[in-house]
Amino acid sequence: MTEKKDQHAAAPLPDLRNYTRPELEAALAGLGEKPSHAAAIFNAVYKKHAANLAALPLVPVRVGAALVRGFSLKPLEAPELLRVSRDGTKKMLFNFSGGAPAECVVLPAKDRQAACLSSQSGCACGCTFCATGGLGLKRSLEPREITAQFEACLKEAGTLNSLVFMGMGEPFLNWENVKKAILILSDSKGRHFPQAKMTVSTVGVIPVIEELAASDLKVRLAVSVVAAEKELRARLAPMEKVYPIRRVVEAVRAYCRAKEALVMFEYILFPGVNDRPSDSALLAGLIGDIPCRVNLIPYNPPGGPGGETPRIKAFQRELIAAGVRTYLRLERGADIGAACGQLAAGN
Ligand code: SF4
Repeated sequence: MTEKKDQHAAAPLPDLRNYTRPELEAALAGLGEKPSHAAAIFNAVYKKHAANLAALPLVPVRVGAALVRGFSLKPLEAPELLRVSRDGTKKMLFNFSGGAPAECVVLPAKDRQAACLSSQSGCACGCTFCATGGLGLKRSLEPREITAQFEACLKEAGTLNSLVFMGMGEPFLNWENVKKAILILSDSKGRHFPQAKMTVSTVGVIPVIEELAASDLKVRLAVSVVAAEKELRARLAPMEKVYPIRRVVEAVRAYCRAKEALVMFEYILFPGVNDRPSDSALLAGLIGDIPCRVNLIPYNPPGGPGGETPRIKAFQRELIAAGVRTYLRLERGADIGAACGQLAAGN
């Protein structure tokens, strides 16, 4: 009897916050309602934070009833924990359903604030220097869980000038959901956050770099080089064995041509490992013809602030001398485990 009942148990309704506006328009048409109501629905959910699907502002009662039949609108998750660094960086920990923790970070600077969002709980890529990689992959996050991080960061920051998908996870291994989150956050009827102020960072998933190059998306691309020499890179970032850096750089070259855009290369310096003069020469040889800027990042071991990176300024000078635009990234939040490579979901 129980078995029979379970077989006929209704499937949970899909959450409306996982839908882009064009998807919602198609779903409304399927419910027999006008697709044009999607604009008011987006406005109500993302700007007015309305929580009752049956009575969204400026949405007719009949449409509300149809929404209730077709969708759920779960309360937006809030972070369980907030830690504040000595330098003002704020790290928040979410515990998404099914035991999927994920962190996001607000990075305040003098006159601007950025939010760093996670795309997955954990990560399957296994970069040896990264605390998230040490967790393995728990699961990919849904669009609503990514936008929940944005809302929490915005609440803490007051205003946000830029968004980076550089938190936990490899965004291009959860690209469908990350792309939906980008489309939802940038929708003119919702938060209307400019795509051009969003940066998606990858360790080099070539098929998605190619898809991005062919798409209308305006987001910026960042690629984590790790090391220019393939054996060393394979030891530090196992993804090298799937997508070798030389082929990644070819895909980036094509991306820059198609988009007429700059790319950002990120290079974490591991003292004595990838910061020798021969490494800067290899790096300049690898990317020197690409319209790019290189961000040099001092290594922060999981669990605490990094030690000295004595070669970082010399490495920068060597790249600049080779004609490569290069910046030193000021690392923030290392005392609360919020710096690059340190996110470990509260561990
Ligand atoms: S560096 Fe990025 S891709 Fe590598 S394990 Fe960490 S989160 Fe994953």
